[in-house]
Amino acid sequence: MQNSRSSQLFQQALKSIPGGVNSPVRAFRSVGSDPLFIKSAAGPMIFDEDGNGYIDYVGSWGPMIVGHCHPKVVEAIKKAVDSGASFGAPTELEITLAEMVIAAVPSIEMVRMVSSGTEATMSAIRLSRGYTGRDNILKFSGCYHGHSDSLLVKAGSGLATFGVPDSPGVPADLAKHTLTATYNDLDSVRALVAANKGTIACVIVEPVAGNMGTVPPQEGFLEGLREICTEEGIVLIFDEVMSGFRVAYGGAQERFGITPDLTTLGKIIGGGLPVGAFGGKKEIMSQLSPAGGVYQAGTLSGNPLAMTAGIETLKLLQEPGFYEKLEEKSKFVAEGIAKAAKDAGYPLYSTRVGSMFCGFFSKEPVYNWDSAAKCDTKAFATYFRGMLEEGVYLACSQFETAFVGASHTEKDLEKTIAAAAKCFKSL
Ligand code: PMP
Repeated sequence: MQNSRSSQLFQQALKSIPGGVNSPVRAFRSVGSDPLFIKSAAGPMIFDEDGNGYIDYVGSWGPMIVGHCHPKVVEAIKKAVDSGASFGAPTELEITLAEMVIAAVPSIEMVRMVSSGTEATMSAIRLSRGYTGRDNILKFSGCYHGHSDSLLVKAGSGLATFGVPDSPGVPADLAKHTLTATYNDLDSVRALVAANKGTIACVIVEPVAGNMGTVPPQEGFLEGLREICTEEGIVLIFDEVMSGFRVAYGGAQERFGITPDLTTLGKIIGGGLPVGAFGGKKEIMSQLSPAGGVYQAGTLSGNPLAMTAGIETLKLLQEPGFYEKLEEKSKFVAEGIAKAAKDAGYPLYSTRVGSMFCGFFSKEPVYNWDSAAKCDTKAFATYFRGMLEEGVYLACSQFETAFVGASHTEKDLEKTIAAAAKCFKSL
């Protein structure tokens, strides 16, 4: 592929934007090439500045579940912008999306909109601290919950990719309040809870981990967290920024039948525009200002264009058979890639939950951060570059998730499997 214009733009961007990108995970740094600069997208495809097209499994890191530029979403946004881009005042659209979220997600009785997943988790943490009067929080190594200070401790996603799980700039005095347990290991949670009795405000977890690659919850893990939190008066937060409306319409909590106290959302509920949300029990949510004392606010929160994109996207997800079809496609492509690796005699540990999947370059099973960290990231980088060359755009790190969308056709998926087969053979 000819990528000269992307490389030229990257050189230009490096002069005005730190690292040339506005979010570190975009930089292709760990895979040894320059990032592609994207000009447009349509359905399952993205097109770079050099005119190359790629089958896209990043989907803007999750939101584009109905495909890029879905005509209904585009039309609704165009219509909405004619009425004004932002008012900073309540609109009916906010009630519509709030009611749709409440109807969809079993545990959410009230919800507040924000503009990113980071804001959603940061606010949910503050709310649980305010509600319980406790300072400590508990998260899992390898899980990523956005970039607020309390959550940049042993974090996944870009921090895992770049090997800096704890960011400089987070005061040690604050980080000490973040306790870190091991994913899929209830004993590690019980030990921390016992050692910090009565001081933990919340447990925050990705119910399907997607920021250390895709790591499904083992049987009993989420149930166990629910039990511990109930016994200890700890607020259980499911961070469903990625899994919400992705692994089922009602998210991982619907798929696995566990009820958290608070849920954070983002990505899909904004249909590609900046949105996050957090919601849960009325008793907890009514502690938020101005109903209660816990402060949280946003100039663009509930933005009418973003609400519109979210509403239209959720409507499309409600179409009969949407998730069944998505499951079928995802199974086909994930199993096809796993088989391609096996046929080539290449060790790959494949995971999938709904339309989230991952191939770990590991002979051993991956079920938490320590096992994920053992993957052969060099081999992944070679595979990533090979797939790009074949016209398949994957997330540029072993520690991310691939997303299948409704617009991926059978032909796209077959082409992807054939590309993977070729890449595994040459590894
Ligand atoms: N939580 C999870 C589970 C996420 O995957 C992400 C983003 N990948 C976030 C929170 C942060 O969301 P945002 O990037 O919109 O701030």
